[in-house]
Amino acid sequence: MGAQQPNIFVIVGPGGVGKGTVVGRLVARDPQLWLSRSWTTRDQRPGESAEAYKFVSRYAFLDHLANGGFVEHAEFLGNLYGTPNPTAPSGCDVVLEIDVQGAAQIVAKFPEACVIFIDAPSAQEMERRLVGRGDPAPRVRERLAHASHEADAARPLVSHWVVNHTVDDTVAEIEAIIRGRRGL
Ligand code: 5GP
Repeated sequence: MGAQQPNIFVIVGPGGVGKGTVVGRLVARDPQLWLSRSWTTRDQRPGESAEAYKFVSRYAFLDHLANGGFVEHAEFLGNLYGTPNPTAPSGCDVVLEIDVQGAAQIVAKFPEACVIFIDAPSAQEMERRLVGRGDPAPRVRERLAHASHEADAARPLVSHWVVNHTVDDTVAEIEAIIRGRRGL
């Protein structure tokens, strides 16, 4: 990913754990972190920013995939998600917020990537957050059922495991991990 060998930070964890909030905060505070914008075939949620993803049809996604346009991709609960080939500005480290299947593909290609798992303090808290962001009830049940499989699949890939009790503490913990990787 570029001549300067940027660090690659892969943030994984179950839906509703607050990954997006934490990553948004990290990137806002550190201009040397570059967040990749994924493509997805999922519908935009009510109230979700149009910038959260590049929302595309399945046809457009598969076409881009056939043209070698993704560094990794996965199907998650019936929708496709993919990281386009990164175009990080020089000198920036890359942040990917992706699922565990995608993290495995990144680690296979870039074994030095730093995988950070953000876990929920409890299943009840995760459910509260999923309901709060407007996921329909069957989706919430589906995501909760998927979460423990994700944690099991992530274990061998993960360099750091962080429990998201509060956004401030989680951001501080990950910033310390990033400083460590940068040798600061
Ligand atoms: P959501 O639908 O909640 O936005 O995302 C569902 C899951 O897909 C989350 O675990 C999220 O991190 C993951 N995801 C988002 N973008 C990508 C991507 O580009 N690749 C992969 N493999 N997973 C992604």
